[in-house]
Amino acid sequence: MDAPENTMTQTGVGPRWVLVSLLSCIPFMAPRLLWPEAVKIPFVPRAVVVSISVVLLAIGIPLCLAAVMRLARGFPRGELFTSGAYALCRHPIYGSWIVFIVPGLVLFADNWVGLLAPIPMYVALRLMVRTEEAWLESTFGDAYRDYRARVRPVLPIPRFRRTPSRMTDGTCSMAVTSERRARREMETVGAMIAIYCRGNHGAERELCADCLALRKYTQQRVEHCPLLTDKPTCVNCPVHCYKPAMREQVRTAMRYSGPRMVWRHPVLSLFHLFDGRRKARIRPRP
Ligand SMILES: [Zn+2]
Repeated sequence: MDAPENTMTQTGVGPRWVLVSLLSCIPFMAPRLLWPEAVKIPFVPRAVVVSISVVLLAIGIPLCLAAVMRLARGFPRGELFTSGAYALCRHPIYGSWIVFIVPGLVLFADNWVGLLAPIPMYVALRLMVRTEEAWLESTFGDAYRDYRARVRPVLPIPRFRRTPSRMTDGTCSMAVTSERRARREMETVGAMIAIYCRGNHGAERELCADCLALRKYTQQRVEHCPLLTDKPTCVNCPVHCYKPAMREQVRTAMRYSGPRMVWRHPVLSLFHLFDGRRKARIRPRP
């Protein structure tokens, strides 16, 4: 493999992959124009095919948009993204096209041959994305290796193996799940406070002093949370670790931001919904 490049652009291998994908799709899409009757999807009623197509597109398009927004916000700040769309798979922009959008479109176009089109797209991606992954590993080190060990590259299906990932210094990250959970809680609450501050205190890029202090406080509470892996969302938590005044401030911010989160951070909102239903079991910290 090539030595990692020193710099990586925001689009990465995207433009090259799009070009290769378009070219590789031609043999699968052309039959739809040349012999439309021959490639019609047999046996399955059209209404069923269209319904599946709509579901695939309804998942794929928001997933792709959420990932693009996350990339546009975070890349200039030099962040490693591991939450939101990036918690589902490591390449959610490419993955949304391969798994959802292209299959959705070919089903809608009634073209069974087109269902094979994601295969060359996937192979091209796995080959081309190595440069991006080498760059991520050289830039973020163990944080990226840990992320790569627990999140699949393209398929947005969580890995259920709970094996602790091994770090290069020989230690194991023991509480991978709880760390991930804690990071997600911090990011969700942080996003909610940012929406609240923007809407009520006129903050643009930076939070106002009060909201900054509130975010810091909530992050400290999460860092010291005794619940670890079974942590519900802080609002649904049976352990009352917030000072009453702080809790009231967080409640106010969440009441304002809750409905707005669905549009701004759809994937985080979904996780927040599931996390909120977790049953807390109190365990000692390791
Ligand atoms: Zn504020």
